[in-house]
Amino acid sequence: MLELTVEQISMGQVAVDKSAALQLLAEKLVADGLVAEGYLSGLQAREAQGSTFLGQGIAIPHGTPETRDQVFATGVRLLQFPHGVDWGDGQIVYLAIGIAAKSDEHLRLLQLLTRALGETDLGQALCRATSAEALLKLLQGAPQELALDAQMIGLGVSADDFEELVWRGARLLRQADCVSNGFAAVLQQVDALPLGDGLWWLHSEQTVKRPGLAFVTPDKPMRYLGQPLSGLFCLASLGEAHQALLERLCALLIEGRGQELGRATSSRAVLEVLGGELPVDWPSARIALANAHGLHARPAKVLAQLAKQFDGEIRVRIVDGQGGAVSVKSLSKLLSLGARRGQVLEFVAEPGSADDALPALLAAVQAGLGEEVEPLPAVSARLDVVESEPPLRAPASGSLIQAIAAAPGIAIGPAHIQVLQPFDYPLRGESTSAERERLSAALRDVRGDIQGLIERSKSKAIREIFITHQEMLDDPELTDEVDTRLKQGESAQAAWMSVIEAAARQQESLQDALLAERAADLRDIGRRVLAQLCGVQTPQEPDEPYILVMDEVGPSDVARLDPARVAGILTARGGATAHSAIVARALGIPALVGAGPAVLLLASGTPLLLDGQRGRLHVDADAATLQRATQERDTREQRLQAAAAQRHEPALTRDGHGVEVFANIGESAGVAAAVEQGAEGIGLLRTELIFMAHSQAPDEATQEAEYRRVLDGLGGRPLVVRTLDVGGDKPLPYWPIAKEENPFLGVRGIRLTLQRPQIMEAQLRALLRSADSRPLRIMFPMVGSVDEWRAARDMTERLRLEIPVADLQLGIMIEVPSAALLAPVLAKEVDFFSVGTNDLTQYTLAIDRGHPTLSALADGLHPAVLQLIDITVRAAHAHGKWVGVCGELAADPLAVPVLVGLGVDELSVSARSIPEVKARVREFSLSEARSLAQQALALGSPAQVRALVEAV
Ligand code: PEP
Ligand code: MG
Repeated sequence: MLELTVEQISMGQVAVDKSAALQLLAEKLVADGLVAEGYLSGLQAREAQGSTFLGQGIAIPHGTPETRDQVFATGVRLLQFPHGVDWGDGQIVYLAIGIAAKSDEHLRLLQLLTRALGETDLGQALCRATSAEALLKLLQGAPQELALDAQMIGLGVSADDFEELVWRGARLLRQADCVSNGFAAVLQQVDALPLGDGLWWLHSEQTVKRPGLAFVTPDKPMRYLGQPLSGLFCLASLGEAHQALLERLCALLIEGRGQELGRATSSRAVLEVLGGELPVDWPSARIALANAHGLHARPAKVLAQLAKQFDGEIRVRIVDGQGGAVSVKSLSKLLSLGARRGQVLEFVAEPGSADDALPALLAAVQAGLGEEVEPLPAVSARLDVVESEPPLRAPASGSLIQAIAAAPGIAIGPAHIQVLQPFDYPLRGESTSAERERLSAALRDVRGDIQGLIERSKSKAIREIFITHQEMLDDPELTDEVDTRLKQGESAQAAWMSVIEAAARQQESLQDALLAERAADLRDIGRRVLAQLCGVQTPQEPDEPYILVMDEVGPSDVARLDPARVAGILTARGGATAHSAIVARALGIPALVGAGPAVLLLASGTPLLLDGQRGRLHVDADAATLQRATQERDTREQRLQAAAAQRHEPALTRDGHGVEVFANIGESAGVAAAVEQGAEGIGLLRTELIFMAHSQAPDEATQEAEYRRVLDGLGGRPLVVRTLDVGGDKPLPYWPIAKEENPFLGVRGIRLTLQRPQIMEAQLRALLRSADSRPLRIMFPMVGSVDEWRAARDMTERLRLEIPVADLQLGIMIEVPSAALLAPVLAKEVDFFSVGTNDLTQYTLAIDRGHPTLSALADGLHPAVLQLIDITVRAAHAHGKWVGVCGELAADPLAVPVLVGLGVDELSVSARSIPEVKARVREFSLSEARSLAQQALALGSPAQVRALVEAV
């Protein structure tokens, strides 16, 4: 990105004419490595097409599209000519800004300069400047105005709590380009200031790009820190820009008119009160900009000149863009829009001239503003298409909704909707003793409820979560603080919630993912007690197994569920984010995600039928559909029972070909259950889960003990361990990793650990030490090149000289298409491959595996993924090596015959899926599977592959 800095400025330059100035500039750009020698001809050619004089003594020479390939790096160099250079037509340049840019980055520079261009006498000031610092200051121009317009007001936004409302406000600022991405997180750390009348104020300077104010009101009554909340100001603060507004706001509050803001029903009303930029009621017209390089200087000049021919004011803004409308008659303001090809411009003109001006402006933009333009593709060129969204309604009885299949199985039961309820309560209590009494009764009830959950829960991990909740309820630090507040006259609800919220915030401020989870636990019990105090019935869990309906579900939410009570999970949002889906599958709970917000409007108790295999939800299905589904569920149940009875038998195809079925686990505790389910080994130990369970990196001894426990539990069966696979979207809280634009394409897996050899060596040592003479297989994640494999192998072999291991194999995961395509080379060196279909599918199909709407398309049965597996298996077998599949595809009943037919030797799945996968292998012969696989390879889509297998 182009930014202006003092290092780019050369003061006191002399040039006799424009050509000499261009020569100097080109020399500078070449000397600094930004462009090749030939760029000078580009600068000259561009000036021949039209002067780059911008106004106010500034010119911005740059190359032509033909000389773009001579640009090595984007950048600018500024030459000050105190004596001036004649740029033609009597225009004198005191500052030439030479731009080396491959595309339209210079629009950003023009945006930066436009504030300065609005100043009078800038040219003379640039000529007189005596230092680079002074010159830069001049270019940075006048202090920025506070951005506040209709787009920054959100009234009645959907928000369940304060955090969500803050996020909404921050988002408006982000959309207006006032702040960078992390601003919401910044605001969450700041103490909110109550202004009175239900209004709250939050501000920060961090990550602010330009000053702006957003105002949001919640769609339902809300309280925060025990006080009502009817409106929230989020200020992106920079300098003094907000001073005038703050003064106006104070005056308003003193006059007792603050409530007008919280109750406002139109953004115009808010802007009138605050003095923001009012939207005008003038005639308007829209058109999409088709110019290849956006609204850069030349077309902008044409547009401004045309606008000047009409009387009255004419403004333009970018629809859905950042910032407000600007005058079309001002070249610098037009440039400040930074409009790009494809963006829709909206012109508004004073009523007196609109009839003439608007058609003329549209026609000029349509004609390209003096440039040849390629028409836009049909969709983005559509004008004035404003579709109002129909109001949301709960899905009607009998409707069928297609969602994303996240965990297989059929679930039938009443809907149990879990959306956070608003609470309303007084701030002051009756008397200390009465409030104390109410609070202890509520605590007692909640404790009793939690005890019930502990007793009912079969999972140790879930029990532990609830035991922690009980400990929190009894924490004397919390109860003492609450008591102090009760003595000051607060109500039990207000005192309890203030203390819980403060404690939760303190936890979060520790910037530790595990402690942040404790904050969520604190809020969880906080709300339980508050609901009890307010007499709000949290919807009673139905007696029969139910379908839990939530907005979104995280892995820890799923982990807390009791499979005996929750028949199925349905979420409005979210993709099949690998981990929550993996946990749901591990618990054997059928799940659908991303069904859309309307499902949250279902009445509790609505009968639902959820098909986690096909991704379908039936609402209040008719009797025949229910009967078919019940039959299918029962058949599946019987099949699973029969499979369970044979879980310890080997998986042999009908013609006697053996397929090894292993388990995927993430902690040593999982090994016993895996063996119990019939695992013939562990095919994937996700060691990052062990690292994540510690608040700091586990040392070598801790790791060794953990790996030893797994090998002990396996009783001589093989263990395939994956070295640490973190980074990118899976950072470890205790390892700061630079934020990346595209974490899935960034420093993750082996790329990260090779950059941190001490950590990798410690893990490898711990693994080698734990092995003794037992079968240990180590594999490296995300390998994409032969060099990465060799570096990892060499490190392991070096350590092996120190710590000898009798039965060791080294392999790689095939998760990146490049690794699959290089399999013929890699197969000569590795001992085995294990195909990680979750990532291999994501990278082959270019679909984020957790994408909220696309992840359903990330189907590992895509023939392109199958082709890569085929290449891998062929290469491995040609060199006598084995291939496993440890991604989720291995557990998909439709995929099993295809994978076996492709020659995969081992399938590694969650422990719960082992009996079913083994049973599936026994259903076909190897020759049938081979023919199926060959047919699948010739198909064009995953749907065709699924139809093929289903038809057999
Ligand atoms: C995979 O990518 O298929 C895999 C098994 O690794 P993970 O799901 O842990 O990324
Ligand atoms: Mg992976």
